[in-house]
Amino acid sequence: MTNHMRLECDAISENELFARNAVALFVLPLGPDVSELSDIKTAVSEAVTNCIVHAYRGQGGTIGLECTLEERTIHIKITDKGRGIPDVEQAIQPFYTTLPDEERSGMGFTIMQTFMSDFKVESALGVGTTVFMSKAIGAGKKENA
Ligand code: ATP
Ligand code: MG
Repeated sequence: MTNHMRLECDAISENELFARNAVALFVLPLGPDVSELSDIKTAVSEAVTNCIVHAYRGQGGTIGLECTLEERTIHIKITDKGRGIPDVEQAIQPFYTTLPDEERSGMGFTIMQTFMSDFKVESALGVGTTVFMSKAIGAGKKENA
């Protein structure tokens, strides 16, 4: 099965709930279990929050959300046109945050990496950032003969 969707929303905190549930609804035909669904929602939530908080510094902007279902895998792409990340390798390290005063723990990228099966970040300063994540659904289950 192949299916694709693309949407765009404002980078405001209300849309974190919208984005994660939109992705959850889109992946439903693959029959994810509760834990897979929760992993995907959490990862999307972290990526969208980063766009709002870091890319646009709460000043607003646009978030692009694109999903593709391919066989039993969901591919998710979350894009902003914000400030960009100077050093991606450093940014994805656990506990690395540029906003420690706002009680950020620096664990967003680590959570995305842990909860999803594939994870990649592309960023350019002053241009924006794209997070790519994939997850195979039912990967841990035995196929019924
Ligand atoms: P937490 O997610 O635990 O609240 P955090 O957002 O700082 O804290 P990460 O999500 O791991 O932690 O992000 C690490 C750092 O990478 C951020 O502090 C920020 O400097 C940078 N960053 C992440 N996403 C973006 C983005 N979309 N645009 C610009 N910078 C980003
Ligand atoms: Mg974060």
